[in-house]
Amino acid sequence: MAHSTLRKIGLTRNDPRALTGERKAQLMSPDGHLPRYSSLGCYPLIYLDGEAEVLCATCASRPEEAAVAFDIYFEGPVLNCAACNGEIPSAYGDPDSEEISE
Ligand SMILES: [Zn+2]
Repeated sequence: MAHSTLRKIGLTRNDPRALTGERKAQLMSPDGHLPRYSSLGCYPLIYLDGEAEVLCATCASRPEEAAVAFDIYFEGPVLNCAACNGEIPSAYGDPDSEEISE
């Protein structure tokens, strides 16, 4: 089941971004929260559910949200969590938002 969900959003089980139960357990803090930032480099993390909706770390930590993948969010516009609508900024911001006038 988790298998086909991953395939739906274009990930295989072996993909480093796939949030398998084992990897989830490794990432989870002792109080049951997924990290908001990567341990290496402290970059913002986004989580994806089976419908490829973006989840924040807080919502992805809830068992009912069934986060199936995660990734470092390097660059792009501020995203909104599909569950709580909270803002998830990228590490370097949105390259297209800067207006270049010549
Ligand atoms: Zn959220």
